[in-house]
Amino acid sequence: MKTQAIVLAGGKGRRMGGATPKQYLMLKDKPVLYYSLRAFEDSFIDEVILVCGEGEEEYCRKEIVLKYGFTKVVKIVSGGRERFDSVYNGLEASDGCDYVYIHDGARPLVSQYILERCQHYVEKYRAAVAGAKAKDTIKMDNGDGFIESTPDRDRMWLMQTPQVFEYGLIKTCYEKLIQDRERLASAGVNVTDDTMVAKMYGNIDAKLVENPDPNLKITTPEDLKIAGFLLDK
Ligand code: C5P
Repeated sequence: MKTQAIVLAGGKGRRMGGATPKQYLMLKDKPVLYYSLRAFEDSFIDEVILVCGEGEEEYCRKEIVLKYGFTKVVKIVSGGRERFDSVYNGLEASDGCDYVYIHDGARPLVSQYILERCQHYVEKYRAAVAGAKAKDTIKMDNGDGFIESTPDRDRMWLMQTPQVFEYGLIKTCYEKLIQDRERLASAGVNVTDDTMVAKMYGNIDAKLVENPDPNLKITTPEDLKIAGFLLDK
């Protein structure tokens, strides 16, 4: 059985403020992206495809992959405008595998435990995703700053990565998504994760895999501090 990870580092990280994309900022003494590549390097995953911003391929190859000796990174390709474009480019760059682990390079705390739990469930259900149950009550707004409804908190989850799929399944779904992108854009549909694509174009319900550990996505300067603290622990 062959497994691949697609590690996404093609975002610009506008909410971070500075000129450097968040995945290259230093977390303790290494770039944010180092930590998720380390997790995959140390895992059962066979190969990694790294998706970076256009023109950042050489930087990633020299300053991250070669510098830290990540032998599982078999390809470095450039991403696209939206996260889903980057995922699609990663899937296209793959020469095929049984299962693919799609992971945000901006989530440095991904653990071996959650990779193994997702492996267990994807083999059973074809699609599995790491997440955490909501602790706070979640509200849906009415588009105008007021509360419209209150979904049952016991059924609310916060989605993380990895999002894991049978490769053939998710590849086909992404091909359909790319063909359908103009219709989606005009309908105002915002594609923010991969399980959504699996549902829309493959009618697959991903298994939710509860992650007991923090797995935050670095988004703001405060997140870098929190992740540093958690890594020290
Ligand atoms: O923007 P957001 O925080 O949702 O990005 C999640 C992950 O997807 C990050 O690791 C980011 O680098 C990646 N991404 C990408 N290509 C884009 C946008 C985001 O690879 N166009």
